[in-house]
Amino acid sequence: MAVAIVHSRGLSGVSAPRVSVEVHLAGGLPGVHIVGLAETEVREARDRVRAALQHAQFEFPARKVTVSLAPADLPKESGRFDLPIAIGILVASGQLPDDKLDAHEFAGELALTGELRAIRGALPMVLSARHDGRAFVLPKASAAEAMIVKDATILTARTLLSVCAHLAGTAPLPPMLADVLPSRTSEGPDLADVRGQLHAKRALEIAAAGFHSLLLLGPPGTGKSMLAHRLPALLPEMTESEALEAAAIASLAGRFSSDRWRVRPFRAPHHTASGIALVGGGGVPRPGEVSLAHHGVLFLDELPEWDRRVIDVLREPLESGSILVSRAARQTTFPAQFQLVAAMNPCPCGWLGHGSGRCLCTPEQVRRYRWRVSGALYDRIDMAIDVPAVEASAMASTANGESSAAVRDRVVFAHGRQLERQGKANGRLAPSEVERHCRRSSAAEALLAQAMSRMSLSARGYHRVVKVARTVADLAGASSIDAIHVAEAIAYRRELTAA
Ligand SMILES: [Zn+2]
Repeated sequence: MAVAIVHSRGLSGVSAPRVSVEVHLAGGLPGVHIVGLAETEVREARDRVRAALQHAQFEFPARKVTVSLAPADLPKESGRFDLPIAIGILVASGQLPDDKLDAHEFAGELALTGELRAIRGALPMVLSARHDGRAFVLPKASAAEAMIVKDATILTARTLLSVCAHLAGTAPLPPMLADVLPSRTSEGPDLADVRGQLHAKRALEIAAAGFHSLLLLGPPGTGKSMLAHRLPALLPEMTESEALEAAAIASLAGRFSSDRWRVRPFRAPHHTASGIALVGGGGVPRPGEVSLAHHGVLFLDELPEWDRRVIDVLREPLESGSILVSRAARQTTFPAQFQLVAAMNPCPCGWLGHGSGRCLCTPEQVRRYRWRVSGALYDRIDMAIDVPAVEASAMASTANGESSAAVRDRVVFAHGRQLERQGKANGRLAPSEVERHCRRSSAAEALLAQAMSRMSLSARGYHRVVKVARTVADLAGASSIDAIHVAEAIAYRRELTAA
């Protein structure tokens, strides 16, 4: 009996566990049996591999071919295993030497003509494989994303034949050099384009400096969405490992673009988005919006219009920074550490509090509208502010406000202080860490106690005010929190019950 073992990778969340593809040739009725794939995928893989081998003038063995993909309990999409299966059949049938097999991993879908097609998730596969010391053979069309991994050996090929020539030693594939992509963090819409709204801009700066979640409350057309879109460019640059994580998720969703390298993601799903679109899922689980926003910003406009059940699902990633996607008996975890920015109108028609007197909503309608976001989710938002209509004089002014770059310098300074003190942003401090890292003066303590009873803050709400005050103090370069920092933090804790 002839045997070949070929190394490949499956996908599970953002990791790519090893899969070995074993091919056995034996006597008996000619035919191909594939073990470890779903039924329809078996059929498709079998047909593609057979056609591709014949098209490349190889002989398809007239024997009983058994292909086993192990471990059996790992979910597998068939396409990526076409190339390892084809190579396994060629080695087991003696049409290719086996001496180089163990030094390589393979993934690629075959067209019937033997051309290699792009596969989903090439980046997470190469990331998982890079420390195993094998060269990774990929379709040329999947190379761009894999090449951002510095310490991996990547070989790319356009056809099955060129992979065979490499293994036969007649035409070795040249190793690809890692790409050093330009960082584009400073690009994007600029804060200087937003007229007026000094209070909101200051709040945005604080949110950026401490990675705080933010709710913007105001009538239509006051720039809530403009402000939210400008947050990513205010944030500190992603680290190499953060950038790789974000790129790996994009790769899994089939959306990798080298133009987005090191750019913090900004995701703004519509309020009609389904639960699956938001958190991820599907037959082969794919990341949802919360994961596509990993290390970036998730913007939910028209917050009260969202289905309450969909919104409730956000509580898990907001607490843990990851999301568990369940499908039948299988569970997959995707990272989902995003900064939440939400926006809403003050009332159903949007014009409450506006000088025009256009709002005809009853107090009961307003109360019910606000109630939709109160409770569980509101308790997880650090800052809530008003974004009122801008006065005509501010709109007419041609004077430019501060640029995003200037604000980002202060954000980077404040963020650096947080990393030095506690290794993470203030917005990510757990309640027990708040007490350890947020020292306050006695005047600050007294003001907090007063606010707590006046605003009837929950314990969660209290901790959020302290964390925001810590960020205000960091922006000011102060080592402990004073009353002035607490006072400003309280101003960003707008109560939803008040009009
Ligand atoms: Zn109204």
